[in-house]
Amino acid sequence: MAKELLSLIVPCYNEQEALPYFYKEVTKVLGQLDCDCEMLFINDGSKDGTLDVLKGLAEKDKRIKYFSFSRNFGKEAAMFAGFCNASGDYVAVMDADMQDPPSLLPKMLELIHSGEYDSVATRRVSRSGEPVLRSWFARKFYRLINRISDADIVDGARDFRLMKKEMVEAIIAMGENNRFSKGIFGWIGFRTCWLPYENVERVAGKTKWNFWQLFGYGINGIINFSEAPMNLASGFGIAMTAIAFLFLIFIVVRRVVLGDPVAGWASTMCVIIFIGGLQMFCMGIMGQYIAKTYSESKHRPHYIIAESNDENAKKVG
Ligand code: UDP
Ligand code: MG
Repeated sequence: MAKELLSLIVPCYNEQEALPYFYKEVTKVLGQLDCDCEMLFINDGSKDGTLDVLKGLAEKDKRIKYFSFSRNFGKEAAMFAGFCNASGDYVAVMDADMQDPPSLLPKMLELIHSGEYDSVATRRVSRSGEPVLRSWFARKFYRLINRISDADIVDGARDFRLMKKEMVEAIIAMGENNRFSKGIFGWIGFRTCWLPYENVERVAGKTKWNFWQLFGYGINGIINFSEAPMNLASGFGIAMTAIAFLFLIFIVVRRVVLGDPVAGWASTMCVIIFIGGLQMFCMGIMGQYIAKTYSESKHRPHYIIAESNDENAKKVG
């Protein structure tokens, strides 16, 4: 009987330093597994020698496929390209910087083979080595998004997970352009086992995310999986209308009963400015959703592959 095939998807953006370590470690682990394997490296428009490193590895090792994007499309697009081009019975996504320890793979495969789960996901239980402010925002973000959306996201969840083919098909069917994989994994369901591990710092190179990029990614996740901000805006509108109406009655009564000296300019200005600000804020929230609708309606491809050693590669998807 033919062995099962495991596909590893590795998004790489300026990872020339980390890749040799990664390759060495991962091949060691793959040697212990009782299944065939293919490695799909997605070069996400790197500006360093990542592509050359990949070509060098692919020459030595026939299990390696590389897919090189025409520009930087982002990690989400790189993962999507990996899913579209993977042919394994099981598919795993891993970072190239060793923050997703390859040593967990045998355990993950064992769990999935037990038949109880469709997917084995990993979760960091510590955030050592990360800036304090970043960890704090991350924790608040997970609390918030779980409360206001139906995407079930575990705190500290990584994109590192092993999945059955069926789950990958479901992910590809989620064709949205503004992708937030942690939400997508949660939304499609399936039986998932969570494997906790201690945080590992990257072996070489630098993180590609600064604080504001992560912040934007978080907002994107909320907008993609929740209508709560829009409902909040409507809530504000209703509350303000009610307050304004009561206020109007108060003013009319005061005018009729007491007569009205010219006063109250300051309070009027306060109210105008307050409501003006609130309206801008709510319009901004609406704008976020409209912008997303606009970008989705264009149906642009998620990624464009300029070069690959896989002749059957789906070049655009
Ligand atoms: N990555 C990518 N495209 C990008 C940014 C990152 O493919 O535009 C890859 C990167 O090469 C790495 C993974 O995504 O394999 C995670 O990136 P990073 O380690 O910088 O993120 P962090 O672990 O700091 O959250
Ligand atoms: Mg990393």
